[in-house]
Amino acid sequence: MSFNKEINKFKIALTSDCCLRCSHCFIDKNLKEKVSFDKALRAVKIFIASPGKKKLLEIYGGEPLLYFDLVDKIISKAFKMAEIQNKDLVISVASNGVLMDEKSLRYMADNNIRFSISFSGSRTTQNFNRKFHSGKGTHKYLKSKIPRMLSIMRENAHVIFCVHPERVKYMRKDFLKLIELGFKNIGIECVHGFKWRKGDYRQFDENMRRIISFILKRARKLDFILLESFLEFFREREYKNSFCPFLRDFEMYPDGSFSLYPYPFIKNLSERKKVVIGDIEKGIEKKFLKCLPDLNSEKCANCLKNYYKLNHLRAGSLAYKMRTEISKDAVKKIIFLSRKETNFKRYLKYLIKEFKKGYT
Ligand code: SF4
Repeated sequence: MSFNKEINKFKIALTSDCCLRCSHCFIDKNLKEKVSFDKALRAVKIFIASPGKKKLLEIYGGEPLLYFDLVDKIISKAFKMAEIQNKDLVISVASNGVLMDEKSLRYMADNNIRFSISFSGSRTTQNFNRKFHSGKGTHKYLKSKIPRMLSIMRENAHVIFCVHPERVKYMRKDFLKLIELGFKNIGIECVHGFKWRKGDYRQFDENMRRIISFILKRARKLDFILLESFLEFFREREYKNSFCPFLRDFEMYPDGSFSLYPYPFIKNLSERKKVVIGDIEKGIEKKFLKCLPDLNSEKCANCLKNYYKLNHLRAGSLAYKMRTEISKDAVKKIIFLSRKETNFKRYLKYLIKEFKKGYT
């Protein structure tokens, strides 16, 4: 199967298995799903052969480190395929961090893989969502592992900071805890599937702006922090087809089905049926096989009209949109400041360099 549209980022949800029971994750762990090496390979082949030179493969789950050997096999084949086809491939692995150890961290550092862990800063916020099977929070356990992660992974260490509406008022404090721990590369995500009230949005907006003002103060002192959503600004400039969902939202679930929804957002098999757009055996739905991104086409304008129909996920999407818009405005401000202040000029250069690495 070949594909006509550019896929810049492709995600493989490796497994439904996980060593944690986070309260905001909808994955049905009882499904015991795990992608086969053959399916993963075939999907990576389609992805790498798709138009476009820059490719980002993200492996996540469930918890991918439960199947480290499989991750290793997929990564080494993917790099070989990319080399043969002369594509610039970067790979990132997203994990809850609990299973990271010397061997997995060294492997990722040696292979220039970006390693992301989900961590929410303070003890209360981390333990609010992220729990072991026993219900015990993961903060203490993970916090003790983070210094080693940072020292091995260095600039390839990344943290995913998920903001839950019930913890949004502590968002800035939690962010500062991540900085205290030594994270420099931070992605803010918004928890989907839970009620975001008017006041939560207001606090999210306020805290996003305060976080950005903190980052800019640090930049003025040449202490550079990368807020991953800043890079959306550069992406929109580079990719005229960024409205096409295949560019960044395409992924394969462990059973080999394709979707434009993130795997952890889908509650059960009946929801999955509604969002699947093909699978590795039968291919991608016909209607997506011939169309090409065109900003002026009615087809593209209506492309996803009836696709994102899982209502319980809408609220998180709005917060996510706010995050992205506030971040893009911040970059405009950085560009403005860079015309007058050398330190901001250097910060802007740093952001562009990070964007070019292609990890997001
Ligand atoms: S209709 Fe347009 S936006 Fe939709 S998948 Fe096709 S090219 Fe992309």
